[in-house]
Amino acid sequence: EGHTIAPHPNATVAAVEKEQVEEDKATTVPVKKVQKPYVLVGAGTASFAAAQAIKEKEPEANVIIIGDEDYAPYMRPPLSKELWFSEDPEAGANLVFKDWSGTERNTIYKDVSEYELIEDASGSDIETNKVKLLLNKSVSKLNVEDHTVTLDDGSVIYYNKVLLATGGQPKKLPTQTEESAHVTTFRNIRDFQKLDKVAKDGAHIAVVGGGFLGSELAVALAHRSGKENLKVTQIFPEDGNMANVFPGYLTKWTTSRVRKLGVNVMENSAVKSVSTDKESGKVTIELEDGASVAVDHVIVAIGIEPRVDLAREAGLEIDEKRSGVVVNSELEARSDVYAAGDMISFHDVQLGRRRIEHHDHAVLSGRHAGENMVGNNRVYNHQSMFWSDLGPEIGYEAVGLIDSQLSTVSVWAKATAQDTPAAAAASEAHSPRAAPAETATGSVTEAVKAANKTSIQNDKFGKGLVFYVRDKKVVGLVLFNVFGKVQEARNIINGGYTSDKIDGLVKQFDIYSK
Ligand code: FAD
Ligand code: NAD
Ligand code: NAD
Repeated sequence: EGHTIAPHPNATVAAVEKEQVEEDKATTVPVKKVQKPYVLVGAGTASFAAAQAIKEKEPEANVIIIGDEDYAPYMRPPLSKELWFSEDPEAGANLVFKDWSGTERNTIYKDVSEYELIEDASGSDIETNKVKLLLNKSVSKLNVEDHTVTLDDGSVIYYNKVLLATGGQPKKLPTQTEESAHVTTFRNIRDFQKLDKVAKDGAHIAVVGGGFLGSELAVALAHRSGKENLKVTQIFPEDGNMANVFPGYLTKWTTSRVRKLGVNVMENSAVKSVSTDKESGKVTIELEDGASVAVDHVIVAIGIEPRVDLAREAGLEIDEKRSGVVVNSELEARSDVYAAGDMISFHDVQLGRRRIEHHDHAVLSGRHAGENMVGNNRVYNHQSMFWSDLGPEIGYEAVGLIDSQLSTVSVWAKATAQDTPAAAAASEAHSPRAAPAETATGSVTEAVKAANKTSIQNDKFGKGLVFYVRDKKVVGLVLFNVFGKVQEARNIINGGYTSDKIDGLVKQFDIYSK
């Protein structure tokens, strides 16, 4: 463990690289044939992690990341969390945020200047030790026989090995046909910047969806409502927030907390249609039960569709049940074709075939695929984790299968002020949310101070553990306001314990101590 995808700013290495380039230019050495590249399709977290892994093992490797966005690879989690709690009015532009501990970080992993930016396919021949980055280009075809990818401008790049890491795209409401400026999905930096501009001056914003994204964004917007007089309504068909994930009583409790944070939660509400009045710009959301809500903007957060078209058209196998590209235990879809991140259906040795839509899995599978691309050929057996925060006050980390359809066993204790994401981030230098190379530079934000004051001490579900059980075996574990115990949770999932062992497993989490 201890992998990091935080930036590795190494001034010495950068300086040496630059000197070499200058030297090459000066002595006009005949251009040596550059090795066929490792082509990484999609400039997201999985590709970034793969590029790092390839470069660590093979510093001279010719690595090209191709992405259809206009930003260098970045992390998405702050877009629905920390960036909204920033006190910096420029946060939308500079993308710098303070994590809950007050440490300043940038959403973008590495500044674009640290890459060799290339403009088109011809850039694949440039000699450099930097990772090459081709932005604003989409890969439209993969030809596994010829070992080529074709760009949307028609140009072709030959690859040595290719990684598919195209992530997913947000689903749209059935009635959300034409592009509306007032009904938008939320996935990338541009979406964040757009919503950042909309969420001002007394606007009424509706968030459709009660999952991770909808719940995090609703809470984030509600946090801003004090300053901007916003009104936030959240609409979804389930019984409460995170109902597909949490057991019923925890969904109920979480929903009551989300309401307390200022969100007008409309549960058990299915959207029938959404229509925009061209003149006023107001959007009317009609619900199945006949009710309707008029708002200024609708954010649709109803899940993603993995982007597997390229793979499908190239004849790769698709797991239709999980909508992912099937990879083997080495994360290979075919010889020389690897895949990682949100889009893969892979075999989890402990838990069976899965597809995971979380950051840490993108990091771990991306790294692993990268290592295998340069000849490691190891089985992917990392047990990834994920986390979510509903403001600085409620947070959880989880490992394994977390699904409200499974039966659960849980243990609860009263929380103290130490049991918040804010306090956890401050004390957990090596947690997956912390960038290990960074040190705290700032002070905690006002939001964190407020959360610490109104902490959920003495609350019924202040902190606890939820064990998810399938066929009498513990297959998932949520650590609710319990931090720094992800490795223990991983060990439990990997240990394949039966549910009668749960009592004995609880001790190591110290949930009753202060
Ligand atoms: P992506 O990050 O989606 O990257 C894929 C990239 O490929 C995209 O830039 C896409 O535009 C590009 N692309 C696709 N097709 C092509 C093509 N044909 N040619 C060129 N480029 C292409 N997870 C957590 O665990 N914790 C969190 O707190 C959390 N918060 C999140 C908050 C938000 C707002 C969102 C949207 C997601 C969050 N996630 C979180 C999920 C996490 O971000 C994803 O699981 C992760 O980004 C997946 O990484 P990836 O590299 O597989 O795909
Ligand atoms: P999700 O799959 O978590 O939730 C989908 C939600 O959409 C459901 O809970 C349901 O309420 C709602 N829904 C589905 N169909 C609907 C319909 N027809 N009408 C109304 N509501 C409907 O997906 P998401 O919350 O949209 O998140 C998008 C992606 O980003 C996912 O991959 C998610 O894992 C990821 N993400 C993860 C985190 C995290 O790990 N903390 C945070 C944000 C986003
Ligand atoms: P970890 O540091 O191994 O990280 C877990 C995952 O998060 C990794 O996949 C990593 O790639 C990802 N990650 C780390 N930094 C990231 C960043 N800046 N941005 C994005 N992703 C990032 O954490 P863990 O799995 O919780 O713990 C691993 C080991 O570290 C365990 O042995 C644990 O006991 C130990 N640990 C030590 C301390 C301590 O204070 N000494 C604290 C926590 C954990």
